[in-house]
Amino acid sequence: MNLDIKYADKAYKDKRIIKIADEEIGGEKFQIIAGPCALESYDDFLREVRFLKSKGIKFIRAGAFKPRTSPYSFQGLGLEALEYFREIRKEEGVYIVSEITDLRDIDIFMESVDIVQVGARNMQNFPLLKELSHVKKPVLLKRGFANNVKELMYAAEYLLSGVNEDVIVCERGIRTLETVTRNTLDISMVPIIKQNSNLPVIVDPSHASGIRELVIPLSKAAAAVGADGVMVEVHESPDKAKSDGDESLTFDMVDNLIKETENIVKAVGRYV
Ligand code: PEP
Ligand code: MN
Repeated sequence: MNLDIKYADKAYKDKRIIKIADEEIGGEKFQIIAGPCALESYDDFLREVRFLKSKGIKFIRAGAFKPRTSPYSFQGLGLEALEYFREIRKEEGVYIVSEITDLRDIDIFMESVDIVQVGARNMQNFPLLKELSHVKKPVLLKRGFANNVKELMYAAEYLLSGVNEDVIVCERGIRTLETVTRNTLDISMVPIIKQNSNLPVIVDPSHASGIRELVIPLSKAAAAVGADGVMVEVHESPDKAKSDGDESLTFDMVDNLIKETENIVKAVGRYV
């Protein structure tokens, strides 16, 4: 397959391993990025971070600026959440992944998070991508739910066209005729991207399915096809979550996620 790419092409660089302090994405370790859909309060988040940390999870996801379909839905704590990220990553030694929605926030994101997420709705926000190509901060680029692989790879090329060398792509499901699941996980994209580019690939089974009970089976599938990790939503009380409770794992389910995924990860010659 000719994706017609340059920086993400294997001929340019065989493999991109993203280093974040003592951790890597795209190396031997299968990374589990976990956390609530949104940071809802400092205390709730701290408990979630400490729980996930106790399970060996180093990358914590949480939204500060939530791109919600309805303007009446919870929009995230915004700058207040970024302040909590700065404090918690320093105190707890975890790495924070959070979505940027406005290029005017780039400077404050640089100080507040370890990986900047570009969400599905902004995958083709070209001014934002161009601006992020000028910074030295890993970017997790999510596939738009109506975008094909070429469009995803071109978006990655925008990010790689400046000084930024650290791009991770994320398959998070696309819109299809199926309505039982929130989106349809396009699992074939993982080997396609791995075989044709040098970028690490993460799978988000939470947004792909919208159903908590599908998150572990789909995480196992992601590991089996060679993904470099998964990003999953976890909430202490999913029924009370301000967003995406239905797809959030309970604390109890996190042990099973790790245990069941680990078996597959080992079978493909990696570790958790
Ligand atoms: C998210 O990860 O918080 C999110 C909003 O996902 P997506 O952009 O894939 O919808
Ligand atoms: Mn969510």
